[in-house]
Amino acid sequence: MDAGAVSFPRAKTRQIMVGDVPVGGGAPISVQSMTITKTADVDGTLEQIYSLAAAGADIVRCTCNEPEAAEGLARIVPRSPVPIVADIHHQYRRALEALEAGVHCLRLNPGNIRKPEHIKAVAKEAKDRNVPIRIGVNGGSLDPAMYDKYDGQVTPEAMVESALQEIGYFAEVDFDLIKISVKASNVPLMIEAYRQLSEVTEHPLHLGVTEAGPPPAGIVKATAGIATLLAEGIGDTIRYSLTADPIEEARMGRVLLESYGLRERKNVDLIACPSCGRAEIDVYKVAEEAQTAFADRQLPLQVAVMGCVVNGPGEARGADLGIAAGNKRGHLFIQGTNVAVVAEDEMVSTLVEWAEFIHTEGMDAALARAESTRAGARKAADEDRRRNLNELGEDANASEQVVELLRKSR
Ligand code: SF4
Repeated sequence: MDAGAVSFPRAKTRQIMVGDVPVGGGAPISVQSMTITKTADVDGTLEQIYSLAAAGADIVRCTCNEPEAAEGLARIVPRSPVPIVADIHHQYRRALEALEAGVHCLRLNPGNIRKPEHIKAVAKEAKDRNVPIRIGVNGGSLDPAMYDKYDGQVTPEAMVESALQEIGYFAEVDFDLIKISVKASNVPLMIEAYRQLSEVTEHPLHLGVTEAGPPPAGIVKATAGIATLLAEGIGDTIRYSLTADPIEEARMGRVLLESYGLRERKNVDLIACPSCGRAEIDVYKVAEEAQTAFADRQLPLQVAVMGCVVNGPGEARGADLGIAAGNKRGHLFIQGTNVAVVAEDEMVSTLVEWAEFIHTEGMDAALARAESTRAGARKAADEDRRRNLNELGEDANASEQVVELLRKSR
């Protein structure tokens, strides 16, 4: 099946503009992250914003928690490569200052700014400036009145009602440039809250599992929540909230969208075999080296690292380019065809060099380049394949022995 033909239907939402990035209304799903610098540290924050943008963030949020932060925003916004969202918690005055500083969006937590008149004052100012606001309902800081109403329980219904109440305040001042999040650290709670919210509003939704924690568990939790909803067509913009370098957040968001075919690939999609008894190299180590070498290189190719030449080129036949380990050497293959043999310690650098060649010159040129080495490469790969099979046999993982044991134990 052509994977490119598979797509998820998207829930219908309205579109708002966060700076020049459209959110909702069928716009490409955007990736967000947040700086962890003091916003008053203008150069440090800008450096992080640039790194986040390079890693895949379309929109970046900065805290606006003190007057100096608002001043920082006034200096940051004009120099930022991506739209900036100001994160406001307890003081609505910071929201007004952030608007004055020129931010492209505000994020308000209704659990923290409770006075309707303050929310309305911010909404009025935002409306005059045509700046959208994210209503950030958070399972961990729900409006106390809502807790009481739901017997002290954080339920999807309580989160959705809190969001709707907030939308109501904004509606009173005729403000509808809204996106909404109903994040929770509990994945099933978060999924259900977004599902229910999607049923009752057409405002665009910002997805996230809050306080997902450090990787790798944090990445799994965030992906479980965000990916489930995206597959159901829910969500217009996403953020991974990890206890890690925010660059990782932006990268994970980008990778998720790329793997879902929801974002055009800009970087290498590195695939690697899981290794097994037939492996001729330390697959984990070489894959990690390749990951570091490709990191944020803008090469929209699928590259494979395979532990053996017996099955590697076949298993990774769909990759644009790959390398399979042989007898202390690597067998380079392009679209499943062996094209060159390289020393073991040159496997990763060779992959990078050929990936760049394919990217700039094209696949046909790469195949033409390999014309003179192709026959020899195939012969060498056959030699190593036979040697591996002779030494390790057909069943290098002793799978059949295990099957036999299982059968005997019945
Ligand atoms: S058979 Fe080869 S390519 Fe497949 S998992 Fe084992 S080492 Fe990797």
